[in-house]
Amino acid sequence: MKAALLALTALLFSVATLAATPWQNIRQPISGAPQSIGGFANGCIVGAQPLPLEAQGYQVMRPDQRRYFGHPDLILFIQRLSAQVHNLRLGEVLVGDMGMAAGGRFNGGHASHQTGLDVDIWLQLPKTRWSAQQLLKPQPLDLVAVDGKNVLARHWRPEIVSLIKLAARDDEVSRIFVNPAIKKQLCADAGADRDWLRKVRPWFAHRAHMHVRLRCPPESLECQDQPPPPPGDGCDAELESWFAPKKPGTGAPVKRQPPPLPPSCQALLDQHLL
Ligand SMILES: [Zn+2]
Repeated sequence: MKAALLALTALLFSVATLAATPWQNIRQPISGAPQSIGGFANGCIVGAQPLPLEAQGYQVMRPDQRRYFGHPDLILFIQRLSAQVHNLRLGEVLVGDMGMAAGGRFNGGHASHQTGLDVDIWLQLPKTRWSAQQLLKPQPLDLVAVDGKNVLARHWRPEIVSLIKLAARDDEVSRIFVNPAIKKQLCADAGADRDWLRKVRPWFAHRAHMHVRLRCPPESLECQDQPPPPPGDGCDAELESWFAPKKPGTGAPVKRQPPPLPPSCQALLDQHLL
């Protein structure tokens, strides 16, 4: 009986984590002045814009998923970064998930990307543009060795350092998440110029892409920013702690029940999903 109950609980849990979220049913941005609302992992957005799918300098992956919406600041950031990468002839920027039309929670994969201020950018810069078919089923390039301690020398390129550095130097970027092994390699490659490393934070996974997060736009009054990263380049004991043997129970964060939505996001759902 107990086993059956446990199995049922497990089943219900897996259904709950994979079930569609109401946000996926909102196919078009909510009209209005752009407002990112709430926190990166519990929020929504009014007045999102689609990233133009046809552009010089970047390509949008899995366009069929419609995860290419964001705050206009995010659209401008991607265009700005791609223009710099293009001018330096580093290759094509591959844009992964941004947010959904009204932001909100995905049915899996991401906890954040909810306020239109997050974008995943892959850590490969192809010299020739990918075909539509490649973009629909993109192949990630895992940059990290199996043991998680180092990057793979055969995949590591100076262009990747330049890409991350350009993004980190952007005034509107508040944080960039990469695998600890990638951060370690950046620390080794940076030389004397190290200020930009402060924003580059080690995090679980992120072996083939960086996750770029913008600060809250000033006119988004209900947007909740994170405190700035601690001072320094982050190449010290904090980074080392990621490579220390794990104590039991200190693995990747456990998925919890989502917190209640910010009232403005709940109101928006109530209005649009009658
Ligand atoms: Zn991400």
